[in-house]
Amino acid sequence: MSETTETIFSKIIRREIPVDIVYEDNLALAFKDIHPQAPVHILVIPKKPIPTLADAESQDHALLGHLLLTAKRVAEVAGLENGYRVVINTGNDGGQTVYHLHVHILGGRQLNWPPG
Ligand code: 5GP
Repeated sequence: MSETTETIFSKIIRREIPVDIVYEDNLALAFKDIHPQAPVHILVIPKKPIPTLADAESQDHALLGHLLLTAKRVAEVAGLENGYRVVINTGNDGGQTVYHLHVHILGGRQLNWPPG
């Protein structure tokens, strides 16, 4: 299901591809999605190249928590006080296209449910 090859997000972490970075620390990077699906669409990624959520292991426990708390802080800074959606597309059926784990933060408009 997953690939272990380098992805475009590895290049983004190494600053080989320009992105609009909104947050960075030693474990994670957050940047604006290049094709936003909402007025605010930010991706939070681990610097560790875990391909999908399904590939995360028990040793990644703290990192996964860090990604969610980072998503929360990024949403606060982005002014999403009315709410937002956090999405982790996982694998083919989940609609994942980049095989480097990432958390979508979507907000700034009313989001529908269920997703397509
Ligand atoms: P997925 O479909 O895998 O859950 O989401 C991958 C996301 O990465 C998509 O929303 C896509 O627009 C975004 N993306 C892909 N390549 C780039 C890029 O080079 N720069 C930025 N900022 N976003 C990208």
